[in-house]
Amino acid sequence: MVTLSTARENLKSARRIVIKVGTSTLAHADTGKLNLYRIEHLIREIADLHNAGKEIIFVSSGAIAAGMNKLGIKIKPQTVPENQALAAIGQGVLMHIYEKFFAEYGQTIGQILLTKENSVDAHAREHCRNSLKTILDMGAIPVVNENDAVAVDEIKIGDNDNLSAIVAAMMNAEVLIILSDIDGLYDKNPNVDKSARLLDEVAEIDSDIERIAGGAGTKLGTGGMFTKIQAAKVATANGVTMLIVNGATNGNLRRVLNGESIGTIFPKKVT
Ligand code: ADP
Repeated sequence: MVTLSTARENLKSARRIVIKVGTSTLAHADTGKLNLYRIEHLIREIADLHNAGKEIIFVSSGAIAAGMNKLGIKIKPQTVPENQALAAIGQGVLMHIYEKFFAEYGQTIGQILLTKENSVDAHAREHCRNSLKTILDMGAIPVVNENDAVAVDEIKIGDNDNLSAIVAAMMNAEVLIILSDIDGLYDKNPNVDKSARLLDEVAEIDSDIERIAGGAGTKLGTGGMFTKIQAAKVATANGVTMLIVNGATNGNLRRVLNGESIGTIFPKKVT
C-alpha cells in the first residue's frame, strides 16, 4: 500500500492521466442543458495540463444528454434504439463543442468510441492501446466514450466510471481522476444524511465502502458512487491511483495534481 502523503505527493510527477467527466458535471441539473461555462473551464484546465507536459486521456459522458438537448427532448426515453439514436446525435454535438474549445487553446483531439470487446479480447485490446498511444504520441488528446450508438447490453461496459478505469489500466496511466458533482466519497449518502463526512483517503475497498457507496446518484448521472467504487477497484489493482474530485470547482484538477488534499484518493496497490 502507498501511504497517504506519498500517494498525494506522487500525483505531482504523474505524466499520464485519465480524466473522466460525468453528465452531472457537464449539464445543468435543472434544465439538463449543457453547462458551457463549466465545460469551457474544464477544457482550459485540461489544455493547460497538456501544455505542462502531461499526457491526458479524456473520458466523457454526456452524449445522450446532448442528443436530448438538440432535439428538445425533456424525459430520457426508455427504449434501446431511441437511446442509441440520441447517443449518435449527441456524440457529434459534444465533439463539436470539445473541438471548438480545445482548438481555442491550441489542442488537437481524437475521438475513440469503445465497447467491452475492445477491452476483453486481447487482440482488440492491443489495437485499442496502439491507437490511443499513437494519438498521445502525436501530441493530441484522445476523447473516449462508450460506443452507445451500437453497443447493446451484451457488449457494453455500461458506465463510463468503469470504462475510464479500464482505459487507465490498459494505458498504464499513473492517475485516474473522476470528476463528479460532489466533493468526493462521503461516509454516508450526503443527500440523505447531513452529518455525512468526506473521506480523504480510502486505503482498502472493503464491504463497508461498498455499502456506503449505495445505489445510483442523480437523475442525470447513471452510476452514482457505486460504479466509482467498482472503478477504483479496477484502477488500484492495476497500479493506477484514482481520485473522485468535484468537477464544478474551477482549478480543482490543477490543485489536486499539485498534491492538495482535495476529493477522495484511492492509492494504487503496489504489487
Ligand atoms: P456523475 O454523473 O458525476 O458520475 P452521479 O450522479 O452518477 O455522478 O453520482 C454522484 C452522486 O452519488 C452524488 O451527487 C450523490 O448524490 C450520490 N451519492 C450516493 N452515495 C454517496 C456517498 N456515500 N458519497 C458521495 N456521493 C454519494
